[in-house]
Amino acid sequence: MRRKREGRAIVLGGSMAGLFSARALSETFANVTVVDRDELTGPNELRRGLPQGHHLHGLLARGQQITEEYFPGITEQMRAAGAQTGDVADDVRWIINGKRLAKVDSGLIALTSSRPFLERHVRDRVLALPEVSFLERATVQSLVTTADRREVNGVVVRRADGTEETLHADLVVDATGRGSRTSVWLQEFGYEAVQEEKHKIGLGYTTRYYRVPDEAFEGNISINTVASAGVPRGAICQKIDGDRAIVTAYGILGDHPPTDPEGFIGFIKSLAAPDIHEVLTVSEPIDDPVAYKFPTNLRRHYQRMTDFPAGLLVIGDAVCSFNPSYAQGMTVSALGSLVLRRHLADTHRPDPLRYFEDLARDAVDGCWEMAVGADLSFPEVEGERTPEVQEAHAFIAQVQEAATRDAAVARAYSRVIGLVDSPAVLHDSPIEAAIAGAQR
Ligand SMILES: Cc1cc2nc3c(=O)[nH]c(=O)nc-3n(C[C@H](O)[C@H](O)[C@H](O)COP(=O)(O)OP(=O)(O)OC[C@H]3O[C@@H](n4cnc5c(N)ncnc54)[C@H](O)[C@@H]3O)c2cc1C
Repeated sequence: MRRKREGRAIVLGGSMAGLFSARALSETFANVTVVDRDELTGPNELRRGLPQGHHLHGLLARGQQITEEYFPGITEQMRAAGAQTGDVADDVRWIINGKRLAKVDSGLIALTSSRPFLERHVRDRVLALPEVSFLERATVQSLVTTADRREVNGVVVRRADGTEETLHADLVVDATGRGSRTSVWLQEFGYEAVQEEKHKIGLGYTTRYYRVPDEAFEGNISINTVASAGVPRGAICQKIDGDRAIVTAYGILGDHPPTDPEGFIGFIKSLAAPDIHEVLTVSEPIDDPVAYKFPTNLRRHYQRMTDFPAGLLVIGDAVCSFNPSYAQGMTVSALGSLVLRRHLADTHRPDPLRYFEDLARDAVDGCWEMAVGADLSFPEVEGERTPEVQEAHAFIAQVQEAATRDAAVARAYSRVIGLVDSPAVLHDSPIEAAIAGAQR
C-alpha cells in the first residue's frame, strides 16, 4: 500500500536532475519545492543557469523510457509539438570511423528536440503535480543544519530583491549541477573532503541552427558522425522542434570547431564522412555559430565518504559530469532519480551513504567507465591505458566494425550505448559469433 504523503522536500536546481528528482519525491512528500536562481517559466528559454542549453542535447533511449514512465504520453505530446521521433538505429544515421552502421529496428525511440523544448515539456508536467511548487529567481546561499552539523534541515535562499529567507525541509536534494557547493559546505561543517576525479579532455563544441530541406535528411531524423581515434572530430546534424535543424560540431584538446561561418563549415568538411557537409550545402543558417568549452570530466565520489549529514542528498551533474558528446548526463540524472525513488520507499530521510553507494552502482559507474574509457581511445588524451582498457578498446573497435555489416550487432550496440542493455549482451554467443564473423 502506498504511504501517505507527508513532509517537505526541497530540490536545489530546476534543471533535468532537479525535475526528475521532484517527480520522484512527489510520490512520498506532501510538498516539494524546486528552487532555482533562474526564471524557469518565463519566455527566455535560453536561461543563464543553463549555458549548455544552446547546444545539442540527445536524450538516450533509456532516458526517453524513464521520462515516458514518469510522464505517460509525454513523447507523443512532444512529437505533436514539433519534436522528431524515430528508431534509434533505423532513423538515425550513425557514422563511426567513417562508415555507416547497419540500419535496423532497435525497438528504441529516438526523440530529438532542442534542450529548452525538452526541459519545458518535462517542467510543465512536473508543475502539474499537485505536490510540487517552484521558487524561481532564488539563489541557494547555504544549508541550514542542527548545531552539531549532523542533520540538514533546510536552506537559506536569496530572492531577486535581495531578501534572504530560510526554508525548512525534511529532505534537501542538491541538483545544482557541476558548480554545486555541497562539497565546500560539507568541509566547512567539518566533514572530510569528497574525493574528486577529473580527466582532462579539452572538449570544444560549436553549434549553429539551420533550415534544412526535408529531403536532405533522406528519411533520417539525425546524422551522427562520431569522433574516433583516426579523426577525433565529430558532428551531429539533427531535426528538431520549430522546423529547424541543430548542428553541433566538436573536437578535443583544443582542436575546437571555429565560430566564424567559413571556419565552421571547413571543420564540418574535415570530418571522417561528407554526409553533414552535403546537407549543409543545401541548407540555410538561421544564426551565428556559438561555442562552449568543456575542459574535464568530473566525478565527486560521495559514495567513498564515511560520514555524511542526514537530510541531504546530491544528484545529477553535481555528482558526475561527463564528456557531453556521449549524451549521458540527462539519462544518468533520470537513472539517479530512480535510485532516489527506491530509497524513499520506506523512509523520508534515506541513509545518505547507502543512497550514494546505490547511485554509484546503478546510475554512474557504468557510464563513467564507458565515457572515460572511450576518451582514452583518443591517443592525445592523457591517462593510463591498462591492459583491460586496451582490450576494451580493441573489442569495441571490432563491435563497431561488425555493426557496419551486421544488423544484429548494430541492434545490440545501439541498445548498449542507449543505456538500455548492459554491455554484457555484446558477449552473448550469437552476437560474439557475428562480431568474430565480421572481422574475417
Ligand atoms: C555542452 C553540453 C552538451 C550536453 N549534451 C548532452 C546531451 O546530448 N545529452 C545529455 O543527456 N546530456 C548532455 N549534457 C549534460 C546535461 O546538460 C546535464 O547532464 C543535465 O542538464 C543534468 O544536469 P543537472 O540538472 O544536474 O545540472 P544543470 O543542468 O547544470 O542545472 C543546474 C541548475 O541549478 C541551478 N542552480 C545552480 N546553482 C544554483 C544556486 N546556488 N541556487 C539556485 N539554483 C542554482 C541552475 O540555474 C540550473 O537550473 C550536456 C552538457 C553540456 C555542457
